[in-house]
Amino acid sequence: MKTIFHLDLDAFFVSVERVLDPSLNGKPVIVGGDPHGRGVVTACSYEARKYGLHSAMPIRKAYKLCPHGIYVHGSHGEYSRFSKAVKSILEQYAPMMEQASIDEFYMDFSGCAKIYGSLFIFASKIQKEIMNKVSLPCSIGIASNKTVAKIASDCMKPEGITYVIPGMEKYFLAPMPVETIPGVGKVMHKALNEKGIYLIGDITKLPEDYFGAAFGKYGIDLWHKACGEGKDYIAPPQLRKSVSKERTYGQDVTSREKIEETLFKLTGQVCQILRDKNWQTSTISIKLRYSDFTTITRAKTIKATDDDKTIFDTAVQLFRNNYKRRVSVRLIGIHLTKFSEFSEQEFLFDEEEIRRRKMLRAVTKLRDKFGYSVVQFGRTGKVNNTFVNPFHPET
Ligand SMILES: [Mg+2]
Repeated sequence: MKTIFHLDLDAFFVSVERVLDPSLNGKPVIVGGDPHGRGVVTACSYEARKYGLHSAMPIRKAYKLCPHGIYVHGSHGEYSRFSKAVKSILEQYAPMMEQASIDEFYMDFSGCAKIYGSLFIFASKIQKEIMNKVSLPCSIGIASNKTVAKIASDCMKPEGITYVIPGMEKYFLAPMPVETIPGVGKVMHKALNEKGIYLIGDITKLPEDYFGAAFGKYGIDLWHKACGEGKDYIAPPQLRKSVSKERTYGQDVTSREKIEETLFKLTGQVCQILRDKNWQTSTISIKLRYSDFTTITRAKTIKATDDDKTIFDTAVQLFRNNYKRRVSVRLIGIHLTKFSEFSEQEFLFDEEEIRRRKMLRAVTKLRDKFGYSVVQFGRTGKVNNTFVNPFHPET
């Protein structure tokens, strides 16, 4: 039996706006832009909801219902900054976490009761820490699966904690309206009501087959959800699909050395991103655009690595093999894909390698702290008009 937490930040966008401008506290706040425009409400405060406002409502309609509300455009960069801050607080506690949206997190705390004590006390500790550190309110639902935990977190908003005792899921859901089940939209809601099914408990009074016959696979899933079943698998964080950097020259370039030098700098930058994420890449591509806009990309797959040297060697080889035309170059870029998570063991093959790895890790830390340019490798510049590959100074 698992112990899943669903943490949902309360009126997230509005709460962030209030941290940025405390004069909005206690007032009906609507995020969504111009109240006379054609947009919709992105989010609104609990005070605004009292006037019948809700998200996705046309903003003009909202304005009619609540003309004295405060309408703000929304600061999306700030929202993701706050979301990341919450995530990093949660990462300290949760061995397994899945971010479901900008303001929702699933965490698996199965078997952690021994470490963290009472689930209620632990949940309120998390709530308090988020409030103290980033001033955001949240609600937490605790249950044996994700679906029930999500419904639970919504039960006592704002700043609620709801724990559904294992085995009680079905009884917890029974008195709730059918549209409480995630995935039941307007159409399904209406279809169920037409059959005289209003509450989740009405679903479970009927046999599974009834829903199979009426709605196919979706109906069967619905019946199981109504019984309090749900997925309890926490998906590991998704790896980004690619990391790339490119440089467009102000003036087209013909010097191979200059292009290789750019490629070297770009490699340093993409490798830094890679190591920040603790990833390795196995496919390295270069992009080369000539002044006549002909563009080629060439890729090579190698053993997974996050080492500047290996990646640069591969990239520069691709460049040398493919820069054939006597036309100047407008753009050069490097692109890394096929990521895997870094695992320390794979690299313990020789002393030299270990030493290099330690050095690169130290560089990553320094750059994270003081900025990318604080450490520059070897002879990045030109020496006697020739670009020197600092990994192979002899070449
Ligand atoms: Mg929320």
